[in-house]
Amino acid sequence: MKTLDIGIAGAGPAGLAAALMLSRRGHRVELLERFKEASPVGSGLMLQPTGLTVLDTLGLLQPMLALGSRIDRLYGADAKSGRTVLDVRYGALASGRFGLAVQRAALFNTLHDAVRGAGLKVRTGVTLTGARVEADKAVLLDAER
Ligand SMILES: Cc1cc2nc3c(=O)[nH]c(=O)nc-3n(C[C@H](O)[C@H](O)[C@H](O)COP(=O)(O)OP(=O)(O)OC[C@H]3O[C@@H](n4cnc5c(N)ncnc54)[C@H](O)[C@@H]3O)c2cc1C
Repeated sequence: MKTLDIGIAGAGPAGLAAALMLSRRGHRVELLERFKEASPVGSGLMLQPTGLTVLDTLGLLQPMLALGSRIDRLYGADAKSGRTVLDVRYGALASGRFGLAVQRAALFNTLHDAVRGAGLKVRTGVTLTGARVEADKAVLLDAER
């Protein structure tokens, strides 16, 4: 497979995970983040089985499990009437799946540490504005270009 130079817009969970996946496939990857410092946004997250499968593929599931709380059932009731409005069990899915409640910082730090550990470049303070197609490649454009 041809080795590509890949620029990834944004060092959020998706960008960090994509960078790890692509670099493990042998591509040269650089993350471009508009914030001065890559950091988590928001407070908590509920990771679904799909996201947990991605973390497992990256070898990061065990550290995340240690930092989160397993969810086997989602239950909600109307505060006044007590009527059940939501009752979903992960056990209904195949192969013992479950959700995981984590702090955003825990997810971000786990992925960001792995990106740093892999020696991947994260360029901060770069706001991407678009992409230009040049011959056989696309070039990401920032506010300076
Ligand atoms: C209130 C709230 C609650 C949520 N709860 C959940 C939940 O429980 N479970 C769940 O799975 N999801 C939840 N989500 C959705 C979750 O936030 C997103 O799925 C997740 O953050 C997406 O990750 P991402 O990496 O794609 O984007 P983001 O986390 O938004 O990261 C994008 C990154 O790209 C950078 N960026 C953006 N534009 C540019 C640019 N032009 N140039 C350079 N850098 C750029 C940003 O600064 C940021 O760092 C919630 C969202 C909100 C708002």
